[in-house]
Amino acid sequence: MFMVTSAKEVSDNIHQIYEKLTGSEKEKVDICLRLENEFLNNRAGFANNRKKMKKSLDSVCACPFEQLVVRSDGHVSRCSNDALGKIDMGDVRKNSLLQIWEGNEYKSVREKLLNGERGSVELCKDCDSMILHIIEF
Ligand code: SF4
Repeated sequence: MFMVTSAKEVSDNIHQIYEKLTGSEKEKVDICLRLENEFLNNRAGFANNRKKMKKSLDSVCACPFEQLVVRSDGHVSRCSNDALGKIDMGDVRKNSLLQIWEGNEYKSVREKLLNGERGSVELCKDCDSMILHIIEF
């Protein structure tokens, strides 16, 4: 355990840990530094760290294009912000990951987000996440 006293020290510690990883391990690691007093996103409306959204965002979100979250019971959540699994995108005990990934639930969400219909998508309409890693088709 170490005490963190500054952003620079955090960066140095993370850098030291990162340098101990092998090349293939490094490819699997993303490092995201946060500001000390940063407000995080509202986790699809579940977190109380922000006021309830009065109006849905119309921006696309990258999550349904680049992540698939399998919960311990085999059900697939919409995204990492749906930690409680409110939206069930599939069940890996019944379908393959590829079938779920290419299934109607994901297709529908992706289409609506790309068409600027975020306000009609359950969870996404209450979510203030602006994850925009996207998109090369
Ligand atoms: S908008 Fe929010 S709830 Fe919808 S997929 Fe993105 S992160 Fe998840």
